[in-house]
Amino acid sequence: MQIKKLRLSGFKSFVEPAELHIEPGLTGVVGPNGCGKSNLLEAIRWVMGENSPKSMRSGGMEDVIFAGTATRPARDFAEVVLHAEDDRGEQLDVTRRIERGAGSAYRLNGRDVRAKDVALTFADAATGAHSPALVSQGKIAQVIAAKPTERRQMLEEAAGIAGLHVRRRDAEQKLRATETNLARLEDLMAGLD
Ligand code: ATP
Repeated sequence: MQIKKLRLSGFKSFVEPAELHIEPGLTGVVGPNGCGKSNLLEAIRWVMGENSPKSMRSGGMEDVIFAGTATRPARDFAEVVLHAEDDRGEQLDVTRRIERGAGSAYRLNGRDVRAKDVALTFADAATGAHSPALVSQGKIAQVIAAKPTERRQMLEEAAGIAGLHVRRRDAEQKLRATETNLARLEDLMAGLD
């Protein structure tokens, strides 16, 4: 999957709508301290379904909304739109929007979807909020110091099988619920005899 375009509005320091075109190959972001380089990478992870405020360097998820400055009022919402193309050339448009007091809402190619649907779409394409392709500050040291189980997780994400684990967990849950229903049915049938 190739990320082609990113549009941010009201996200952290990006108060005005900003659009970035991402060219094929390795992309590095350079700029003076505090100009918003890490915020950009966080915007990509956020629109891909990141749900840990801590990994957004925030206390709560609403902290990603532009908080205002001495000269500009705070915003009521933040929105990030990611436009990507998968390996078969299919276009993918993902939008995540958060409003104060209303939580996050996601859209996938114009349809309202759940956070889980977005995360699965990216996991199946061997990418996502925790993809090793998104290299933030300190990430290299983190990889070197990682435990074997954490390294395995990174490899599984890179290989595109992370989504299969989520589906297996879902299937196991459904199987357990069905087994419980079956046991109940057998009890009821025994009562009819
Ligand atoms: P460095 O090179 O020092 O790591 P950087 O370019 O990665 O910096 P970021 O950490 O992305 O910079 O951006 C930090 C800036 O974003 C700070 O000026 C901070 O005030 C601003 N910022 C973060 N969250 C918000 C928010 N919710 N509202 C407004 N500004 C914010």
